[in-house]
Order: sequence, then structure tokens, then C-alpha cells
Amino acid sequence: MEYKITNAYCKRVWDDLSARYADQGHFLQAAGLVLQTISPVVDKMPELEKTAVLERLVEPERIIMFRVPWTDDKGVPHVNRGYRVQFNSAIGPYKGGLRFSPEVGLDVLKFLGFEQILKNSLTTLPMGGGKGGSDFDAHGKSEGEVMRFCQSFMTELYRHIGADTDVPAGDKGVGGREVAWMFGQYKRITNAWTGVLTGKGLDFGGSLIRPEATGYGLIYFAECMLAKMGTDFKGKTCLVSGKGNVAQYATEKINQLGGKVITMSDSSGYILDEDGIDAEKLAYITELAASKARISEYVKKYSKAKFFAGEKPWGVKADYAFPCATQDEIYEEDAKKLVANGIKLVAEGANMPTRAEAIAYLQANGVRFAPGKAANAGGVAVSGLEMSQNSERLSWTREEVDAKLKNIMTQIHDNAWNTAKEFATEGDYVSGANIYGFLKVARAMMAQGLC
Ligand code: NDP
Repeated sequence: MEYKITNAYCKRVWDDLSARYADQGHFLQAAGLVLQTISPVVDKMPELEKTAVLERLVEPERIIMFRVPWTDDKGVPHVNRGYRVQFNSAIGPYKGGLRFSPEVGLDVLKFLGFEQILKNSLTTLPMGGGKGGSDFDAHGKSEGEVMRFCQSFMTELYRHIGADTDVPAGDKGVGGREVAWMFGQYKRITNAWTGVLTGKGLDFGGSLIRPEATGYGLIYFAECMLAKMGTDFKGKTCLVSGKGNVAQYATEKINQLGGKVITMSDSSGYILDEDGIDAEKLAYITELAASKARISEYVKKYSKAKFFAGEKPWGVKADYAFPCATQDEIYEEDAKKLVANGIKLVAEGANMPTRAEAIAYLQANGVRFAPGKAANAGGVAVSGLEMSQNSERLSWTREEVDAKLKNIMTQIHDNAWNTAKEFATEGDYVSGANIYGFLKVARAMMAQGLC
């Protein structure tokens, strides 16, 4: 993809970055889109170049890589690779999830960590950007195997994190169960109970609404977008991809707001249920996800639904689309199908599910598009609220946290909207989110000197 990077300083940083990290395509896409969209602002701020803000912004402050040895149930040893990318701590301790999935390596973690810097800045909370994980694949592993893996992973990671240094959370492949096992191991090694991880269980420092936060936050953000378009969810048909944490709670919230979700998916394919995936059917999908079963099981229970093996849901006619599974879900050909099928809004629940070419196509064809760094920031926002509750040694009610989440998503929306209007085009949430998130981090980096 050719990025339209109009500012000379941004272009110089981009040329250097794309030559140096030619093998890191996902990271380059994340950085390229940011450098393209912040160009008009960089034009007006020569002090950024004088203090090398961009060269510093695109290089992680630190990358930690380590081996993770563990034994399976038969006593056979295995070794995976573990990582923590501590990208930027200008506005707060590094904060970002841990992903356990075979695709995990420096490219994926640098893209996620880079996105996290601006996402966390957008939340208005004091959190820097980081990301970590391992190429461990939990599919087909027993509970004991996953627990031993988590303990081994934390046995190295613990020395690099801390409540005021770096506070990881879950991500794809890391849910509440894994966070709890890692938290237990951290406590055992350090003999200290601190809020070093978020997404913890409610009995030991977790926040109400954290499991729901990313999916609910996504739909709160979409509600704000729809309000600008003069409409809402009532009676509207939605495509959701994924069947994990984000997809489940996005679907729940759409149902609550009177919308109808007709698709969900996993890495084996998607299901289409024209009658809508209501609360009871969603509970069954949640059960399937918890037991690591395939989504094709759904059509055995609900025989009017159809399963499409190896396919994505973007060819189905609907009003709004919410990619909530993983990166690279919507390519340009998928964007063409979405437009042809009358989709009016695409909001990313996952991180970078939409390729840059596809974003350009959607925007050029009048589809309102929300990037993940704004639309899925609800998860990390409630993680930030969990950190506050841990520091204060208290717990807020479900209603309090939900109200704070809604308020933060509305602020993120309005900041992105107003910034796009000022510096780019009205309704261009990609530019609005990037510029707003960038300015706060850049100001902090300049104030703190060359470090
Ligand atoms: P989960 O592990 O709970 O769920 C991920 C889902 O995506 C699973 O259903 C998985 O299916 C499916 N999936 C994986 N690969 C593919 C594929 N190639 N095609 C279709 N489906 C696929 O993860 P989360 O819901 O937590 O995260 C989903 C996305 O949201 C990620 O991009 C994550 O970074 C992002 N995100 C998550 C946040 C959170 O709070 N959890 C916060 C912000 C962003 P299968 O079971 O077959 O593997």
C-alpha cells in the first residue's frame, strides 16, 4: 500500500522505517497509517522534528524476549517464545494485553504495541503503550498444560513488570482464567499483592464490567457514530465476526439496543442465523467458546442456521459490520462486498482487522469507519479503572463502571470527531483518532526531553 504521507519529516521517518523493518508488514501498516494521517499536524509543529519525536515514537523503548519451557501431560518438554514490547511510557506505565497465539512474533506485537500507544492516549487515562505474549497455541491443550505454561511465562515476565512500570492484561487467547494463573504466579514469586495485571477475577481485585468492556464500549462508540448519522440500532441487522470475548459482548449490547446480529464466526468459518442470535443462542456460543468447541456446533442445535466452512461473513446483506476476531479480516475484496451489500457503518472490535486498502475503499464509498484504536478502547479504559480501584483499595459498582465506560467512549468519539473536523474531513475517524492520540503523547515526549 502506498501511503499518502505529505509531510517531509513524516516521509523521511517512513522511508527509514519501511527499509529497516521490511519484514514487519503489520507494524508498517500501523505506522504508515499514522504517519499519513498526522502529516497535516506535523506541518504546523516544527518542534517535533527538532526533538526527534517521530523517530522515537516508532521505536519501542524496550523489547524483552525470552524462552518459555513447559511440560505437557505426558511429561514431554516443550519450548515457546515469550515477548513483552514496552513501547512508550510518556503518559503512564506501559499498558496492553498479552496474546497467546501461533502468529505472535515481533511484527504482530510491535503493531499491537504501537496501536496501543495512541489508543491509551485516547482513553484520557494515564497509560503508556505496550503489548506482549507468546506463540503458544492453547487449542487442544488441557487445563493443566495451559496453567503450567502461564506459570512458566510469568516466571520470566515478573521481573519486567509492576503496578507503576508495566501492567499487562488479557488479549486473544488470554482470558480471565489465564490472567488469574499468571497473577497467582506473580504473587508467589514476589510475595506482593499489587495490581500488576488487569482483567483479574472479581474476588481478587478485578473490576466489574471488565469482561464486557471492549464489546460494550465498541457498541457505545457505534451508537455515537449512528447519532451523527441520524439513526440508531433499532431494527438494524448486524454482521459480527469472532465468537470470543469482544464478539460476545458486542452481540449482547446490540441485542439490548434493539439490533439483530445474524452472523458470528471463528477460525473454522461463520454461521448465518437470519432469525438473529438472541440471548439464549448467544449463551450457547459462549459455552462453545469456553469449551474451545467449533462454531459449526451451533447449526446442530439451531437447524435453521447455516455454517459456511472457511468463509468470512462479509458477503451477507446487512446494515452494520463489526469485525471482532483478529487482524486482517477485511481485505479490499471484502470491503467491496460490504459496500455492495449496503453496509453503512464498520467499527473495529478487533485490532486492525481491516487492511489499509479496504479502509480507503470503505471511506471513499461513504461507509462510516471507526478504527479499533478508538472503537475498541473500552477494554483498556476499564483496565485503567481497575488500576485506579486497586490503588484505592476499593470496588465500584457495575452501574458506576458502566457509566464511566460509556462516558469515556463518548469522549473518545467526540474527540476523534472534532479533531477530524479541524484537521481532516468530517467523519474521518481514522485521522481524528490518530491526531488526537498522537498530540498528547508528542507533547509529553517533548516535555520530558530527549529520552
Ligand atoms: P478471544 O481469544 O476471546 O477470541 C478471538 C476469536 O477470534 C475466537 O473466536 C477465534 O476463533 C477467532 N479467530 C481467530 N482467528 C480467526 C480467523 N483467522 N478468522 C476468524 N476468526 C478467528 O479474543 P478477544 O475477543 O479478546 O480478542 C479479539 C480481538 O479483539 C483481537 O484482535 C484483540 O486484540 C482485540 N481486542 C481485545 C480486547 C479485549 O479486551 N479482549 C481489547 C481490545 C482489542 P478460534 O476459537 O477458532 O480461535
